[in-house]
Amino acid sequence: MRIMHAKKQILAASLVPAILLAAIAAAPASDSQASSCPHQGALGTSRILAVDPAAYPRVGLKSFPQSLPLRDHEVVLTFDDGPSPPNTAKVLAALEKECVRATFFLIGKSASAYPELVRRIAAGEHTVGHHTWSHPSLKHIKPSATTEEIDHGIAADEMALHGAATTTPSTPFFRFPYFDSTPASLDLLQARGIAVFGADLWASDWNAMTPQQELKLLVERLRIARKGIILLHDPRAQTAAMLPAFLRYLRNNDYSVVHLVPPSAAAASDKAP
Ligand SMILES: [Zn+2]
Repeated sequence: MRIMHAKKQILAASLVPAILLAAIAAAPASDSQASSCPHQGALGTSRILAVDPAAYPRVGLKSFPQSLPLRDHEVVLTFDDGPSPPNTAKVLAALEKECVRATFFLIGKSASAYPELVRRIAAGEHTVGHHTWSHPSLKHIKPSATTEEIDHGIAADEMALHGAATTTPSTPFFRFPYFDSTPASLDLLQARGIAVFGADLWASDWNAMTPQQELKLLVERLRIARKGIILLHDPRAQTAAMLPAFLRYLRNNDYSVVHLVPPSAAAASDKAP
């Protein structure tokens, strides 16, 4: 049972014609079902989207012409630059309270320093992507150093997750620090079957502002974009403080959260495109 669909059916019963109600009730066969949520009235995760790097090698309209196949009012939550105590734990608690699954792009050095936090992210059924070893701009270092940054980062994340320092990521998702890609590094990742994530919108949470200001900015941008991959930073205190209100906003304004997984995970749990 999916909370979002149940909520929408209740709303639909009084507000929209029967034909729309039927369309809402009939979940598309290509979507995987999100697991049930024990928290009454929670936002929940509406569906699971398997992202095949062969079909979606680069996504996010801030950097690339293509994004994920999201419907109107569907969002994907992504968090960069963790893990980092204490705010990653606060972000995880806010997500758990609303049964929302997100994607975390980890810095390898931090994953090495806080492996227990990495395992908490994974235990919360979130997706772990990669964000280099030490977060340099890959535009401004040598090609050999770029490969090292990518591989060392993946290996550190995998070590924290699974105890093996492999450079083959269990989830082939990567985001460039500062979105600073180069043609050569994009080719390298594509050749290795790793999808590159940009973003469709963000809260500019690298700038100092109050949680209220950040919420207002993000909500205004989402109102214009209507959907998309949202970039946030879990180490930021203002973002951890803002997140519970933002998740409430999503619920109260009929947004759905889509959880990204690699194709391998989707095949293991349920059928997906
Ligand atoms: Zn970053």
